[in-house]
Amino acid sequence: MSSEQENWKRKYRELALEVEQNQLQGQQVEQQLKQLINVMSIPLQGNDARLDDSLSGLRTVLQAQADADRIKQAGDVVERHIRHQDSSREKQSRALLKAVLAWIQQLRMAAPDDRLVEQLVDLERQGHDAVEKHYQLAEFVSSMVSLQRAVIQADARVPANPPVPAENELSDEVLAEDTELLLQRVGVELLALVEGINVPLNATGLVRSLIQKVEQGFAISELPELLHTLTDIIAKATNDGSKEFESYLLNLTVQLSEVQKFLLENQREQGESGVQHRQLEQQVRSDVRKLHDAVKVSHDLGELKKAVSQQLVGIVKAMDEFRRQEEQREGHLQQRYESLMEKVELMEEETRQVKAHMEEERHRARTDPLTGLPNRTAYDEQLSQEYERWQRYRQPFSVAVADLDFFKRINDSYGHLAGDKVLRLIGKILNRQSRSTDFVARYGGEEFVIIMPSTAADAAVSAAEKLRQAVAESPFNFHGKPVNVTMSFGIAESQPDEDLDQLFNRADRALYAAKQGGRNRTQVG
Ligand code: GH3
Ligand code: MG
Ligand code: MG
Repeated sequence: MSSEQENWKRKYRELALEVEQNQLQGQQVEQQLKQLINVMSIPLQGNDARLDDSLSGLRTVLQAQADADRIKQAGDVVERHIRHQDSSREKQSRALLKAVLAWIQQLRMAAPDDRLVEQLVDLERQGHDAVEKHYQLAEFVSSMVSLQRAVIQADARVPANPPVPAENELSDEVLAEDTELLLQRVGVELLALVEGINVPLNATGLVRSLIQKVEQGFAISELPELLHTLTDIIAKATNDGSKEFESYLLNLTVQLSEVQKFLLENQREQGESGVQHRQLEQQVRSDVRKLHDAVKVSHDLGELKKAVSQQLVGIVKAMDEFRRQEEQREGHLQQRYESLMEKVELMEEETRQVKAHMEEERHRARTDPLTGLPNRTAYDEQLSQEYERWQRYRQPFSVAVADLDFFKRINDSYGHLAGDKVLRLIGKILNRQSRSTDFVARYGGEEFVIIMPSTAADAAVSAAEKLRQAVAESPFNFHGKPVNVTMSFGIAESQPDEDLDQLFNRADRALYAAKQGGRNRTQVG
């Protein structure tokens, strides 16, 4: 094989290996990213039924080893629901603020003294923060509750603007009516407040009983308990789930370090692909850094979830982009691979042709064109091999030299073409009648040689005799007139102290002796 062919083969093997490695790496990165998405979706769970559904849809698609299109579709749905949740959360915050401000306003109107009014003004200020930062909400509502209690108690004791009844007997009734009105208003505000809270699933029972109680109407003595329930609800709604989030971050860090490790290991070996891996790694790294920053600056689960959802979207996009680039790169590789394959196939075809041509040439160079038998060159080669074998195994072989008797006469009598025909026929007879292990060749002119492997002189004589008789008995004729054709044979068995020329000469001398002895006979040398 030429060095160019070797080069091609080597390049082809390297490329095939590279394609295989890239596929494997692509699959591993994909697996890591899927796990990341799974983990990242945990804190988003439990806020919104539709978001929950879409997250479970995304996880199913990831588990099912779906293709990029389906993952993207599922990711888009999740993204839409996250955005929807964000905007509905904003609306809820606004509604909540409105309800809180109205509640404070009413309490201010009912406040019997300036000290309480001042405290309510302070609370109003805090209200803006509390509706934005839900983790402050429970404390805020608690303050509201104690201030309200103070307002109600003070109001019951010393009304700020005590009604001046026209008739004293009506005063109790008027007071009762005012209190009922106030309780109704408080009830309305309570409901508005509950409405503004993003109620978690584990607080729905509490909310239901609170609404029922408010709607049925309640006594002032029941208010503390109702407010207590409300505080519970808010506490549940603002439970920031930091433990859950901590474990989530921990998982995320482990996952990320695995991704990084994998990327680092591979980028050393990768050229083009390594650049893409690095980009992806940087993207994921920066997304997670943003998450860590978000965790540091805020303890608000809402904000964290928002940050997570944004990073989730970012990572899904990065994954899509990575996949797209990988596919493009694989496409290029595939093209290169295919064109290389074509070249290799072309080369193989050319090699086949050259080989066939060389085989043909070799065959031609070793074949006698007249008889189709091996020629003298082929005979020399064969004899060398047989000689080597004999040297190694010491099993004797014999050489027979056969020459047509008075062939000159045949040429002279019937023409050269008839002579050629006789030579062809003789070739056939010798070939057919000899053993399959024997090697029959045309040595030159009207002279043939037969190599008989593993054959001593006696057996060689028998074999030669068989051939001689076959030739002598063949019915040659010229224009219907029988033509007598015979051959003489000289045999020599291999001898330890002889080289090939000596062996051949001995056989040739035996042939000469056979000629001398009257022809159409076999002689051993
Ligand atoms: P002997 O029995 O002593 O071998 O007599 P011979 O006539 O066969 O021997 P000789 O060497 O005198 O003549 C050989 C003849 O064989 C001479 C030559 O014209 C003929 N001959 C050699 N090669 C060819 C060939 O390829 N075709 C034909 N038609 N004749 C050939
Ligand atoms: Mg001769
Ligand atoms: Mg002759």
